[in-house]
Amino acid sequence: MATSVKNPAPQDEASRNLKAIREMVAACMQCGTCTASCPNYPSMDLAPRRLWRLAVMGLTEDIFASRTFLLCSNCYACTLRCPRGLPLTEAMAALKRMAAARETKWGGRKTQFYRTFLDNVRRWGRVQETDMMMRYFLDMKDPLLPLRYTPLGFRLLRKGKIGPPHSAQSGRLAGLFEKVKEMEARP
Ligand code: SF4
Ligand code: SF4
Repeated sequence: MATSVKNPAPQDEASRNLKAIREMVAACMQCGTCTASCPNYPSMDLAPRRLWRLAVMGLTEDIFASRTFLLCSNCYACTLRCPRGLPLTEAMAALKRMAAARETKWGGRKTQFYRTFLDNVRRWGRVQETDMMMRYFLDMKDPLLPLRYTPLGFRLLRKGKIGPPHSAQSGRLAGLFEKVKEMEARP
């Protein structure tokens, strides 16, 4: 069956996305400034510099076996300091989108967390941690997951960092979310 131009096959789209990422980092000279600038590097399993090397070499499976790009917090430090001026934060974001589409080992859980987080902000006007985590646990359908977070929950409760949901700012960002949805739907 022929694939329409408007709805390309997922495989075609994945190859195009990967090609775009390779082009973004093709001029990387492996200087390591991105790694040295990244505040999240200590938690990453692959240094950003190595991730870009894998991208240039087209080693897709090695890239998606790593969770380095999922730990990127979009701070732009690497982008601002890269001597080649490469759009590294954009490339990290593109990898996150690809991982979400592929439902990789790390992608599925992280994607669900992002979705629950954004839905929570849309609903409350800010992040409401208790409500967010309850919904995340329900969405993940993993009965053991809440147990893993219980010690952290008690610590946060003791310090007064979390509390029962409130409705003071409920829905205030709904218009903003609608606008972004509209912009994202544009061709
Ligand atoms: S800072 Fe830029 S040139 Fe240097 S390793 Fe990172 S991506 Fe490559
Ligand atoms: S944008 Fe992401 S990868 Fe770059 S320095 Fe910040 S957290 Fe690290």
